[in-house]
Amino acid sequence: MTGPLHQINFPPICINCAASSSQTARIERLFSWGDEHEPDEISEVAVVNVPMCAACASRHWQEFKPIPFLDRLWPALKTERTIAFIFPFLTFLFFGWKALSFFFRAKFITALGMMIPVVLFGLIAGVLGKQLLDRAQSYGVPANTSVSGCFTFSRDRKKLFEPPRRRFRFRNAGFAEAFIDANRGNLWDPRSAAAANASTKRVVLLGLLIAAAIPFVLWSVWKEFAGN
Ligand SMILES: [Zn+2]
Repeated sequence: MTGPLHQINFPPICINCAASSSQTARIERLFSWGDEHEPDEISEVAVVNVPMCAACASRHWQEFKPIPFLDRLWPALKTERTIAFIFPFLTFLFFGWKALSFFFRAKFITALGMMIPVVLFGLIAGVLGKQLLDRAQSYGVPANTSVSGCFTFSRDRKKLFEPPRRRFRFRNAGFAEAFIDANRGNLWDPRSAAAANASTKRVVLLGLLIAAAIPFVLWSVWKEFAGN
């Protein structure tokens, strides 16, 4: 299925049992990936609103166990990012306090000068703080219930130049068919023109990179020999 997650059409029947749906439930899924050193370095929390019938929805919310904010924050704080965050944050507070005190003593020029480190350290602390909160959010994704476990979707699998796409799977065959019908225009076909187009562009880009690298390699080799 191609297109951003919020543009996916869910047919108005229950995702779990295909009965007519009366409500929607917000489902969060966590995807994390990274390299061999930090396998969970990057994470993404994807959110979808799915249709559910009254019976399935009430079962879902009965089993649903949200994770309290502190239980999310704590594991996120136990990383080295926290230490990285503390210094710019304290510096930001310090200069912020200085700037304010100069301002109230009507020393506006000095206060203005103080704003430079305030903004600088504020930005650094802001970026690091945002990362901490993102981490905390990734620890806050609740476990599936027996209802919300009825479907899965993959993280965005697009390759370069392709539209975003994900693979969906549903336990209920009736819902799966209705889902395909509702999203006919967005089904990903690896033999489609868009796929071929993206593939061609990738080859061209690779060709350009190689073409750009060749003179550099030749120049390095020539320099190596000419130098002696
Ligand atoms: Zn249902």
